[in-house]
Amino acid sequence: MAFIFAVMRATLDFVNTVFDHYNVLCFGGRLPRLPIRLTDSLTHLGAFVHPKVWPASRPRGAGECHMRISRCLDRSEDELVDTIVHEMIHYYIWYTHTVDDGPHGRQFLALMNDINRRLGLTMSVRGLTTSETLDSDTRIKPHLICITHWRDGRRLITVCARKRLFEIHAAFTACPRVIAVEWWWSADPWFNRYGLSRTAKAMLISDTDYDKHVATATPCTCDGHKFQPITARQPSSKP
Ligand SMILES: [Zn+2]
Repeated sequence: MAFIFAVMRATLDFVNTVFDHYNVLCFGGRLPRLPIRLTDSLTHLGAFVHPKVWPASRPRGAGECHMRISRCLDRSEDELVDTIVHEMIHYYIWYTHTVDDGPHGRQFLALMNDINRRLGLTMSVRGLTTSETLDSDTRIKPHLICITHWRDGRRLITVCARKRLFEIHAAFTACPRVIAVEWWWSADPWFNRYGLSRTAKAMLISDTDYDKHVATATPCTCDGHKFQPITARQPSSKP
C-alpha cells in the first residue's frame, strides 16, 4: 500500500510548536500560550473553550481558556496544522475582544482566508455553501461510516450523523437482512458527497470506491454505547 502523505497523531510538543510558529506568522506573536488538552474525541478534531460570560471590563487571559485537540486518529500533518490554526483564530478573536457576527462570522472568515492565501493552508469551515462539484469539496470533516453487508450480497454505505450513530447501529444490527456491520472513521473529503444520515438509510458503494476510500480509513468498533477506533490507545492518565 502506498502512502500519499505521512500520518501522525497530535502531541503536546507538536501542538505547541505549531502554535508558536503560527502565532508569529499570523498574529504578530500577540497570543500568550494557553493550556492545550489532548482529547480522544472522534467527532471534534479541535475546540477553543472559553467562558461564555465575560465582563467587558475584565481583561481576557490565557488562564481562562484552553484549546482541545484530538489525538485519537492518524491524520496528515497538514490537517493537524489546519485544525490548530483554526482554533487559534477563535482564540485571537476572543482574546482581542473582536466582535464577530457568528461563530465563523465575517471576521473569522477574513482571517482564515488571509492565512490560507498567505501561508498555503487549506482551512475551511462547516456549513459554507458551495456551488462547486463534489470532488472539489475539500473540507476536512470527521465522518462516521457504517458499511453493511446484506443477505442478497450487496454492500452498502451510510455516513452517519454523530447524534444518530447508536440508533443507526441498533437498527442495522437488528435487521435480519443485514449479516454484518462494519464501522470506519475518515476525514477524507471524498465522503462529503454523502449527506449525514439521521436514519438507517444505506446507499450502494462500488468496489472501487470501497477499496480506495473505505478500506484506507480507520477501522472502528461500535458496541451500541461506545464508538472507538480498533487501534485505540489507552485512555490518557488523569492529571
Ligand atoms: Zn471553529
